[in-house]
Amino acid sequence: MRVLIVAKTRMGSGACIGAITEKGESVRLVPFNADPHDGANKEYKVGEIWKITGKPETSLTSPHNENFVVDKKSRLHTAKDTRDLISAIELLMPPKVGDPRNLYEGLLKTTENGSLYISPGDDVPSYSTAFWQTDQPLVLEKEMRKLRYRYPTENGGCTLTFVGFQKPLETIPAGTLLRVSLAHWWRPKNRPHAELRCYVQLSGWFPEEEAQEERMPPPETRQLPFQTNTSSLEILRDIFGHEQFLPFQEEIIEHIRNGEDTLVVLPTGGGKSLCYQLPACIFNGLTVVVSPLIALMQDQVIQLEQKGIHAAFLNHTVEEEEYIATMQEVRSGKIKLLYIAPETLVQRPEIHVMLHDASVACLAIDEAHCIAQWGHDFRPNYRELDWVREQFPNAVCIALTATATPRVQIDIKQSLNFPESNAFIDSFDRENLFISVEPRFELLGQTLAFLKKHANESGIIYCQRRKHVDWLCEQLVAHGISALPYRAGLDNETRKQNQDAFLNGDTRVIVATIAFGMGIDKPDVRFVLHAWLPKDLESYYQEIGRSGRDGERAECLLLFSPDDEDTINEFIDDGHPAQREGRIEALQKLIAWTTSDECRRKALLDYFGEPYEHENCGMCDNCRKAKMEQVDLTIPAQKFLSCLHRILDWVNKNSTTPEEVFDKAYFVGTLQGENTSIPICLPAGALYIIDILRGEKEEKIIKNKHHKLIRTWGKGKEYSKAQWCYLALQFFQNNLYERDREDGSLHLTDNGRKVNTTQITPADRFWRFPVDSVDMDSENSVIVELDTYESVFDEPYDYDPGLFERLCHKRRNIAEEELIQASRVLPRDSLKEMAAELPQTVEEFGQIRGIGRVRTERYADIFLPIIREYCKQHEADSVESVNETPHTHEQEPEEENEYDQELFEQLREKRKMIADEEGVRAFSIFWDRMLREMAIHFPQTEEEFMQIQHVTPAKAEKYADAFLPIIRAYCEEHGISERV
Ligand code: ADP
Ligand code: ZN
Repeated sequence: MRVLIVAKTRMGSGACIGAITEKGESVRLVPFNADPHDGANKEYKVGEIWKITGKPETSLTSPHNENFVVDKKSRLHTAKDTRDLISAIELLMPPKVGDPRNLYEGLLKTTENGSLYISPGDDVPSYSTAFWQTDQPLVLEKEMRKLRYRYPTENGGCTLTFVGFQKPLETIPAGTLLRVSLAHWWRPKNRPHAELRCYVQLSGWFPEEEAQEERMPPPETRQLPFQTNTSSLEILRDIFGHEQFLPFQEEIIEHIRNGEDTLVVLPTGGGKSLCYQLPACIFNGLTVVVSPLIALMQDQVIQLEQKGIHAAFLNHTVEEEEYIATMQEVRSGKIKLLYIAPETLVQRPEIHVMLHDASVACLAIDEAHCIAQWGHDFRPNYRELDWVREQFPNAVCIALTATATPRVQIDIKQSLNFPESNAFIDSFDRENLFISVEPRFELLGQTLAFLKKHANESGIIYCQRRKHVDWLCEQLVAHGISALPYRAGLDNETRKQNQDAFLNGDTRVIVATIAFGMGIDKPDVRFVLHAWLPKDLESYYQEIGRSGRDGERAECLLLFSPDDEDTINEFIDDGHPAQREGRIEALQKLIAWTTSDECRRKALLDYFGEPYEHENCGMCDNCRKAKMEQVDLTIPAQKFLSCLHRILDWVNKNSTTPEEVFDKAYFVGTLQGENTSIPICLPAGALYIIDILRGEKEEKIIKNKHHKLIRTWGKGKEYSKAQWCYLALQFFQNNLYERDREDGSLHLTDNGRKVNTTQITPADRFWRFPVDSVDMDSENSVIVELDTYESVFDEPYDYDPGLFERLCHKRRNIAEEELIQASRVLPRDSLKEMAAELPQTVEEFGQIRGIGRVRTERYADIFLPIIREYCKQHEADSVESVNETPHTHEQEPEEENEYDQELFEQLREKRKMIADEEGVRAFSIFWDRMLREMAIHFPQTEEEFMQIQHVTPAKAEKYADAFLPIIRAYCEEHGISERV
């Protein structure tokens, strides 16, 4: 059906849309998949005609029972002439003329200060949009956080709150056609016994003023902001206390003082804030600073106030009273800089009126890359800044960011209508950052080793998930490192405390999710460790940019494991569908970068559109490696590997377990050379091998009689212990041997076997880095401090340990039969995931991580029966305990076909949301099977909920409130009565 959009009312961050159908019925358009409060519905404009399909929402109470749920829509055209629109309205929904109290069938009452409303007892009309032609001029009143229009009457007049998207007029002339609507039933929060009322709102008037036509004057004709004559340098010294400008600052400030719109792309720490703060002190009007970093606004304001510059901030966290006081101060001209959140700026009509009263001299848009629609940090509210910008054609505009690819730069300029030339783009190159990437094989050990290398220095460790933050932070503290967490989900107070502790040096290390660090200003961050992959190269560059702001050397290490890709893919799936493609591309670029052996710096700069001239930057792992001469290390590799081989042999012959030789521990330490310091993290078994090679007589060696392995014991005395450590590390990193995560035992890999043979081919010889850089002649110049620790990383799987045991057992049997290592049969993580997901069919089995087609063919039939049997047993238990479950449990997997797919999807979506909130894996909340069962039995009460298999009372208590409403709503909508 076709509808004409006649009203658009503000509603949270979205819009409530009134329309008239072809049959002349009034409808309110409701999106089927989103809440207008959360930003939906903004695409409609008054006067447009849309083609829509959907269905009426019938269950609502008056006056809001004209809702129509739209599932598909397309814009047909825009009414060219407002006169047509007005006549259409007059024809279809004739306006009331004169006194507004005659609207809505004369049911309206008036409060003491004149607000019009309907009481619930009255015969409430069943529509909310109406039209009214006023016979008197309406006058705008700015009251507290509201804008009202007053209609004069004998006893002081009556008022309507303005909730439209139009630019508010001071006076609306008599004779104007107005659109009004009824708000939701409402009572003041602090008066629970007050009457619920429906207030009348004004959402706009006709004709719409042609706001878009008002083009911004080109810069030549722009009125220069009134300003004092003081030189910028004087102000820099007197007010800001700096001796001279940082690169670009002076030119940028010159541009701004001349009223020329400017894009500024300077790296973090480049001193961007000064570029608008300094002119703000000179200008006679207000500087509005748009910033998404609400947490930082207060700090900035405090800093400015300390310099004697009046500043304030407005965002949704500001309390009513302060908000109003600030608005008054802005109006009175007392405030020089106003920091404002983008949503406050674009969504609150009272802010527009305030700014029009305040004379805006400069509009500064911080983190301007958020404007770019396909950029990595797009914020829809930023997109609307172009409209705000047009409201203040005489204000000069400065857009600032630390991260903008050339495409993003163009997008920012176009969006804000900047002249082509006005941009200051500094080199992205941060020469003092050493950048490297390493495979992650042992998170904690590698982290400890890295931190040892940076003893007494402070830095940031980034993790992907909250749970990782907590775990890693705990572990570090347990190892005597001063570390604090910073992540979403911590209360603001704690977050602030932790951030402050880091900033003022009370805490050495901060372990954070990506939420940390936007805008932090700590010059001596000496390292950034990415324990997991960052989101994309932009984020990565921004995050490492927080180190070395003082220009001194800082080290940035990224630990990468192919598993990280999975987690990122999940994030991609969560994000806005429109940005999916872009995100996938960004992820691919990031992964290509981590795995490349090209200069890291050159590749990064390329990505940001900056050519890099040098062959070798000398400050990244790849360049460092390219410079280092490689030597043939085949002989020591063979010594090491054959020692390992003999030990394994011995284990077999003596039928002992590997545990008796190898140890689950890791060793971490630093190898100190003349100019180098190499962090090492080695499995304990490697140290045992080194001791044998060096002919040590350690207790364990004697006990195992390994000093009797004469062909290997003492055969490696030509290298010191430190040198052997460096060798063993290189063998490990290059996958000549591997460590079993279950028992800590070491094994030769295929690569290792290729090296460890007397008939080795030239191609298989092992060339790597020489050990002399590590070690000097004298033992004293070498420091190998080794700490041991047990690897206890608690993986994010919430699996069933009983089943996991059985699966491990089976895996060991297979390994023995096939004479391969257990981890070759199936990775341990796959077993854990099986014990969490409980796959029942071959298809489900194939979807377990790390399995793939070949393993499915080989092993599905071996493992599935174990899982099925376990489930049956488990279910049998639960039947006993619930003891009156009405359905039988001989459930063949096929039976699952009967579940309601749509509800299942809804439940999954909810589960995903909760999982993200809690930072856990989705299936640790409920397994798919449980959700499917919910979609078969439709539990509607908590009791019924607990009858779903495996829903424990604890889970029910925790999650019933989240899932039951979805099921109930679904049942109501589809006329399903309980079936449990
Ligand atoms: P950005 O926003 O570009 O990351 P900031 O504006 O936060 O950078 O500035 C970084 C630091 O540099 C701040 O501590 C600031 O006080 C300092 N700074 C800015 N301009 C100068 C200057 N001209 N001389 C010395 N320090 C400056
Ligand atoms: Zn390089």
